[in-house]
Amino acid sequence: MNKPSKKPGDAVISTPKPNVDGFDETAWMDEGLLFNAFGAALRRRFGGRIQRVSIDAGFTCPNVDGAVTRGGCNFCDNRSFSPSRRVRLASVLEQLNRGITSVRARYNKVAGFIAYLQPATNTYGPLDQLETLYRAALDVSPDVVGLAIGTRPDCVPDEVLDLIDALAQQHYVSLEYGMQSIHDRSLDWMNRGHYHASMVDAMRRSRGRRFETCAHVILGIPGEDHADMMATADQIGPLGVDAVKLHNLYAVRGTPLGDQVLAGDVQMLDRQGYVSAVVDFLERIPSRVIVERVSGDAPPDFLIEPRWCLEKSALRLEIENEFKRRGTRQGDRYVAGAYQVTEHGQDAEHTVAADQTPAAIRQRIGQSRTLPVLKF
Ligand code: SF4
Repeated sequence: MNKPSKKPGDAVISTPKPNVDGFDETAWMDEGLLFNAFGAALRRRFGGRIQRVSIDAGFTCPNVDGAVTRGGCNFCDNRSFSPSRRVRLASVLEQLNRGITSVRARYNKVAGFIAYLQPATNTYGPLDQLETLYRAALDVSPDVVGLAIGTRPDCVPDEVLDLIDALAQQHYVSLEYGMQSIHDRSLDWMNRGHYHASMVDAMRRSRGRRFETCAHVILGIPGEDHADMMATADQIGPLGVDAVKLHNLYAVRGTPLGDQVLAGDVQMLDRQGYVSAVVDFLERIPSRVIVERVSGDAPPDFLIEPRWCLEKSALRLEIENEFKRRGTRQGDRYVAGAYQVTEHGQDAEHTVAADQTPAAIRQRIGQSRTLPVLKF
């Protein structure tokens, strides 16, 4: 079994990645788990409970500020992602410190923290500012064991990947891609402003680097049947992502999706259908892939539907019980080599837009220099 590589107060040292360094990919089975759960994986790696602390560094999103399109994804509450919004670096570090203090007050034993750049597109900025921000977050306390960076697959030029790779030489770093689905019609439906080809391209340039990659996937997208969701599952292995975050589609107030749900135009997956889809999905992905989430939710006052996703612990238990009922676990239906990477759903109308090439992304980010994300 992999030995924990960092204890609180230790100097930050290199941490093993699931698919390198002889990392024990199946330790979770020896622990009697039914899937490769994130919390247990972190505990194994760092020797204790690790908590993420979410921070807002003031980024906007190319799907909001017009660089790709405007309006954002139909489920995203992006009203606060004003392109002119600026956040002081000091305030980002304050958020992190406050989060650490608050988690310490809630839990007795926390071995370390991951600084989580969560809202908006956290690689969408000038390279020098990204480097200052990422390094400052990692250096805020010896208890910060790593960094998680949420982004879009069409917003990672090679220079940004090189920077994140360099940080990952010494720290745990996870780059979280909003993949959502392999089906271009679904990406169109949610107004992602990119197609699956961007995810394929981002993973082609990310695989083999030192940082972990995580794919966000949404289950229950209108127009996707069970076979469509499973086709997305069957691409997780070939794409080579290290982790997945599964979310049920949910609608919050003040979003285009929220309006559609309130008008009765969109139906959500029901609870049992979701549990069953999650188990089917996890059975089809490799056992080495870490499962960071099995459901998603929003603050109760904002959430419209489905209300069942507020019961996170109960849902997780139902997912585990479904595995037990079937006598299966993650990876049981995964067959290595059965599928190749496919730019699924890409057809004549949906070729990679010229503005999604790395060169064009570089240019866009260069232009965003006039909209600095941070005040230094
Ligand atoms: S890409 Fe992410 S941040 Fe941007 S609009 Fe979509 S969900 Fe929101």
